[in-house]
Amino acid sequence: MQWKTANGVLNHSIQQDGCSCGVYVMQMAKEVVEAFPVTPSEIMIPSRKRLMSELREGVAGTILEASVFNPKDHCSFCGQESPVGRVGRNTWIQCSTCERWHHSVCVNIPKRDIRKFKKTLWLCVFCR
Ligand SMILES: [Zn+2]
Ligand SMILES: [Zn+2]
Repeated sequence: MQWKTANGVLNHSIQQDGCSCGVYVMQMAKEVVEAFPVTPSEIMIPSRKRLMSELREGVAGTILEASVFNPKDHCSFCGQESPVGRVGRNTWIQCSTCERWHHSVCVNIPKRDIRKFKKTLWLCVFCR
């Protein structure tokens, strides 16, 4: 798909996978809004898997930082207050820097590894 503007066609990179359309839409909207009232002449979004992952984390971080909830008793990843799955301290992990809490499943940490992070540092997506 090509986006048409008042000045013609907005050149942009093409999504290379089947699962990053949300990242593309958010990134394109961000670049258009940031350039307003000028229309960007082109929008190039990196398609490499690692860079796409960084963009995805950036979008998630922006949305989460703008979300209204108490990070002391809500998961800073999914925004829910009640624990996902089993209730218990071991299903939560706290960032060593900002002290935001996260469900371990939301940040992809197996339950068996949580004790290890309690003895060392664990940094959330905002603090990495
Ligand atoms: Zn969560
Ligand atoms: Zn943090």
